[in-house]
Amino acid sequence: MEPLIEKDIRASFVNCSKGEAHRLPLPRDLGTRPWPDLDFLGWRDHQSPDRAYLVAEHGGRPVGVVLRSAARKRGFLHRGLCSVCLTTHPGSGVALMTARRAGRAGREHNSVGLYICADLGCPLYVRGLRTPEAGGRLDESLTVEEQVDRLRAALAAFLDRVTGAAPA
Ligand SMILES: [Zn+2]
Repeated sequence: MEPLIEKDIRASFVNCSKGEAHRLPLPRDLGTRPWPDLDFLGWRDHQSPDRAYLVAEHGGRPVGVVLRSAARKRGFLHRGLCSVCLTTHPGSGVALMTARRAGRAGREHNSVGLYICADLGCPLYVRGLRTPEAGGRLDESLTVEEQVDRLRAALAAFLDRVTGAAPA
């Protein structure tokens, strides 16, 4: 994706108030993120661990989404599968995140859920630039390029549901 600057990121959010978009914490390393290898910019909120943010180019413009992770089940041993990049992680490595839908649907408390790598590192996992600590990637015959296409399709489908372009 094209590198984004703070102003573009703050202006991109579709499912929170302007004030919230103005205040939310941005990554400090925007200048050194590996932009060409990113399909979306994702980061956790270190002040509010249940919150995360994702910005992707969608419909020709950056679209930002505030995500909330559902409460973790303590002591519940399982492996989760990220629905975006199909990486498996044990324990809390995959989070169920929800996004309030944009506009009226969001005000009526409609939200969309997504199972995603808790560190939002999907673009790096899919390209082999980050290795899951204890999980793994499905052994598959698709090329990296095809897997990137699949990731982008999953992401676009999610953003369509958040923005209301597709039913939740
Ligand atoms: Zn993932």
